[in-house]
Amino acid sequence: MASAEKLKVLFATSEIAPLIKTGGLADVSAALPVALNALGVDIRVLVPGYPQVMGALKTRSRVATLPGLPGIPPASLIASKLPSGLPLLVVECPIYDRNGGPYQDATATDWQDNDLRFGLLSYVGALLSTPGSPFAAWKPDIVHCNDWQTGLTPVYLNYVHGPRARTVMTIHNLAFQGIFPPQSANRLGLPPQAFSIDGVEYYGNLSFLKGGLQFADRITTVSPSYAREIQTEQLGMGLQGLLSRRKDRLTGILNGIDTDAWDPESDPYIERYYNAARLASKQDNKRALQLRMGLQDSPQTPLFGVVSRLTDQKGLDVLADIVDDLVELPAQLAVLGSGDPALQRRYQALAQDHAGQVAVQIGFDEGLSHQIEAGADLFAMPSRFEPCGLNQMYSQRYGTPPLVHGTGGLLDSVVDCSPATLKDHTASGFVFAPLDAVTLLENCRRSVAAYGDQRTWRQLQKNGMKRDFSWEARAQQYLDLYRALPVG
Ligand code: ADP
Repeated sequence: MASAEKLKVLFATSEIAPLIKTGGLADVSAALPVALNALGVDIRVLVPGYPQVMGALKTRSRVATLPGLPGIPPASLIASKLPSGLPLLVVECPIYDRNGGPYQDATATDWQDNDLRFGLLSYVGALLSTPGSPFAAWKPDIVHCNDWQTGLTPVYLNYVHGPRARTVMTIHNLAFQGIFPPQSANRLGLPPQAFSIDGVEYYGNLSFLKGGLQFADRITTVSPSYAREIQTEQLGMGLQGLLSRRKDRLTGILNGIDTDAWDPESDPYIERYYNAARLASKQDNKRALQLRMGLQDSPQTPLFGVVSRLTDQKGLDVLADIVDDLVELPAQLAVLGSGDPALQRRYQALAQDHAGQVAVQIGFDEGLSHQIEAGADLFAMPSRFEPCGLNQMYSQRYGTPPLVHGTGGLLDSVVDCSPATLKDHTASGFVFAPLDAVTLLENCRRSVAAYGDQRTWRQLQKNGMKRDFSWEARAQQYLDLYRALPVG
């Protein structure tokens, strides 16, 4: 592969913060290309021209006309810049031009033509890196694809004759696979031979993600443990066979975090700045959080924080099972989240039953999420599975040791507190397994006991605060992976 200075990478993604975001993919798409650029990679980001994206462009120039596909009208390629200054390429097409989210309308119903919307994105990702590219001024050596929405890029490229870009396919969430009726394959102009068990066919349907995993030169996912877990029946979501067959091409690279936005020394949302040398000031943030959420002003009672989607994945039903016992420890609980209506109601009822000890806010609130990280003593993440997870990294940076189920990225980013890890100064939280009410309560008890021992607690906080979760370190791993790819 070419040297780092010359390496050209097209980063194809369906979300990028702050232009369009539904989840962690948007944050990765904003941060990783910037970090790779700093390492000398010539990287451009490719996104669909949703109204939110088109409306945010400060400059734009049409650099190519993109041919249509059987089910898709011709489109334009627009060149612009991201707020970070990185070059941005936008696919402008009438099929993106509607109000609503990237995947769903205002009633949370999937757009009927998501196969076309993201088939086009995938197709353009491939087209720009083939000999006949309509944008000959810049041809990538590598297309970095993200999740099912760009899963067909490696499929289109597989059927190109002559030199072509190499492909990396990153799984951020295996739960979404982009499955559509078989007719989609024709509308997307895929060659008939692609629709087979060794191609994009998945139990009679077309699977974007399966296609990408089948044909990508390299597969990555967002933590080493999750890379292992997705090869098992338990967490492979039906793709474990394919993933274990390609395991020599599969790598787990832990995500980084935005260390500027999440910095207790300068976080504009929090009551009082602090750092590892001024941990006493964290107490002011605890008091402010207790006040804001209607919890008793009780400086010595350990306060558990939760910021999460309220879905089955996050295991918060198990936490709800033990809340009655948790408050007896004693401990307080502050929950911010939204999602499953039944779980929302359950937490609201718990807050009523334990007024002053348990507080719940339903909804999405960026400011409160920072205040919980800063004001809580412990941060609970009992996820059933977790590809990477971000909050456990934020909380270590905020001196709020996380209590996590030992799965996926949680396992890879939190060091369990034990005599050995306290001795070698690596302990940074509490890791437990299996995930059940008895074990969770036992571990809440264990962490509350540690909280009661001032010296242990300070050490745990400081160990977590000094860890490096920045993107700079992660980007080097992606660069090494790019460099190891054979030339096209
Ligand atoms: P996932 O992507 O599975 O939801 P992650 O831990 O990877 O989980 O990332 C979730 C991100 O969204 C975190 O930054 C978290 O703080 C944030 N978040 C989740 N729910 C809320 C909420 N209700 N209000 C504010 N931020 C939230």
